[in-house]
Amino acid sequence: LKTIQTTFSNIDHYINNNKVVVYSKTHCPFCKQAKKLLAENDYNFQVVELDTLSDGPSIQEALFERTGQKTVPSIFIHGKHVGGCSDLLDCYHDGRLNDYLDNNFQTYDYDLCVIGGGSGGISAAKEAASLGKKVALFDFVTPSRHGTIWGLGGTCVNVGCIPKKLFHRASLLNEEASTSDNFGFGMKKTFNWKTLVENVQKYIRNLNNNYEQELKKNKIDYFNFKAQFVDKHLVQFCGQDKTVSAQNFIIAVGGRPTYPDIPGAHLGITSDDLFSLNKDPGKVLLVGASYIALECAGFLNGLGYDTTVMVRSILLRGFDQDIANMIGDDLESRGVKFIRSSVPTELIEQGMQNIMVKAENTNTKEKYEDVFNTVVFAIGRTACTEDLNLNSLGLPVQPNQKLVTSHEKTQVHSVYAVGDVIHNAPELTPVAIKAGKLLVRRIYRKTTEQMNYKLVPTTVFTPLEYGCVGYSETDAKATFKNVVVYHNQFVPLENALESEPRKCYAKLVCDADNKDKVLGLHILGPNAGEITQGYALGIMLGATKLDFDALIGIHPTCAEVFTTLTVSKESNKKLESSGC
Ligand code: FAD
Ligand code: NDP
Repeated sequence: LKTIQTTFSNIDHYINNNKVVVYSKTHCPFCKQAKKLLAENDYNFQVVELDTLSDGPSIQEALFERTGQKTVPSIFIHGKHVGGCSDLLDCYHDGRLNDYLDNNFQTYDYDLCVIGGGSGGISAAKEAASLGKKVALFDFVTPSRHGTIWGLGGTCVNVGCIPKKLFHRASLLNEEASTSDNFGFGMKKTFNWKTLVENVQKYIRNLNNNYEQELKKNKIDYFNFKAQFVDKHLVQFCGQDKTVSAQNFIIAVGGRPTYPDIPGAHLGITSDDLFSLNKDPGKVLLVGASYIALECAGFLNGLGYDTTVMVRSILLRGFDQDIANMIGDDLESRGVKFIRSSVPTELIEQGMQNIMVKAENTNTKEKYEDVFNTVVFAIGRTACTEDLNLNSLGLPVQPNQKLVTSHEKTQVHSVYAVGDVIHNAPELTPVAIKAGKLLVRRIYRKTTEQMNYKLVPTTVFTPLEYGCVGYSETDAKATFKNVVVYHNQFVPLENALESEPRKCYAKLVCDADNKDKVLGLHILGPNAGEITQGYALGIMLGATKLDFDALIGIHPTCAEVFTTLTVSKESNKKLESSGC
């Protein structure tokens, strides 16, 4: 008994006077793994190798008496028993280890609290709940400047991808109706903006409801409140005394459209308002020249509205510029007007329905003015971090209010971020969803798979859709020494009976120094989103031009164009438009 007591008091003395103590055995693989993890993370720790000590067996016996754990490693932090190797790994991955090292052994209301119920937040919350974690989710929509609000699901569901694609579909239907005569139909119909808005909104309300049900089904506590940090383990319901604590937080607050800092800007709306606009938009000006401006211009024009786009510099910055310009030409040929190299300087209300827009050419300083019924700002988005009280965490943000992260980790160990709120990540729904899932798996399932932000397929849903994955020609040429570009024009068979069928285009950007590995795939044409999604798998798996040549086409489709590309851009051969 005396020996055990002495051993106990020796153990007590040792574990209380050293921050981290690992009772180990030199040959034990689990001990090796635990020690490796601590060493790799520069944590200071003391090791007692029991198999090298004459009283090792009695120490191990005493440890068993004390902790109920027979095996090694037996790990203590600040005198508290943490467990063995897998316990150490668990608390390393889910963030508790950092707290324990800070001598914080508190328990919290939730394992995970997600702030933001959009694509990224919901995906992360559901994944964590499926792993048995106790999860809370906050989602609150601040009304737009014009008072538009919406339900659970975030940007994509309410004011982004979903309504946008349905409006795009409506405009394609109009286009098909007007060309259907050649197929023997007389399908011309009149269009009613209100009907489209009402039906789209009805569909969205169903989705909101489904999301809420899913949270319930997954036992996720949903709080329809704005959350604000108090400290790294505590958030407050904005404007109330109520708080919830959590071991970890995921910031998934997304962004909202940016307004320009010009007089009268409040007269303009944004994509937050457009899809629920209760009046016919009339003559529309879209300010901006990227995804949102061009997609909205495409469907508004397609639905019959007088549409103008004000472009500050180039179309679709970051995208393949050959195709960006083809999109501009195509929109112009459909009747969309472009005001180039210009920015608005003032908006002035003229009666109930009219807005006078004053603008200036950024090069010549030439003035421009015209009157519109609706002005839509699509000049980028600002992350919603302003109300999170990130100062309380000492977390800095970028000028666009976004968070700098490393593998979705912020500088505060219990706080992560996913989705549009991350600096330098593509603002796309599947990116937010995938990043949320992978992050949660890394935290709670100790997996290692990281989000790949590089090879992200995407599509611009202009009337002729533009799908791409990988490098643009310009970026490839700036990165690789020897780039070869194969391309062709084609006319989709669907359009063959039109008097002036639209020219579509396909391009493969290849690395000639690496067996013509395909670095980038680009297609402008109908259903480009569907085509790109399929081919993206090939690009992800490292397909070469020869693989594309070996692939048998499906005839007659647009997608088969990639199996028959023979003309390289470098050959300067003129492209002849061919059928499918
Ligand atoms: P969000 O979906 O924006 O969700 C964030 C949520 O957090 C929101 O509900 C917000 O109100 C809430 N919130 C903010 N602050 C707080 C707080 N403090 N407390 C509680 N809740 C808070 N992507 C595509 O992939 N394909 C497309 O076709 C496409 N089209 C788009 C069209 C438009 C017009 C727009 C605007 C975007 C489009 N996107 C598209 C982008 C896509 O919608 C976003 O990338 C995606 O929704 C981002 O998801 P998220 O989870 O990061 O944020
Ligand atoms: P982007 O940030 O992509 O582009 C902003 C556009 O506005 C650029 O053309 C920019 O021009 C212009 N601009 C910026 N500031 C001003 C200003 N002060 N005055 C005039 N023009 C200005 O923003 P979007 O709003 O188009 O889209 C936001 C994001 O949403 C996209 O990046 C995309 O990830 C996502 N999205 C995805 C879609 C899809 O997947 N199909 C569809 C819609 C959105 P410049 O080039 O000169 O800087």
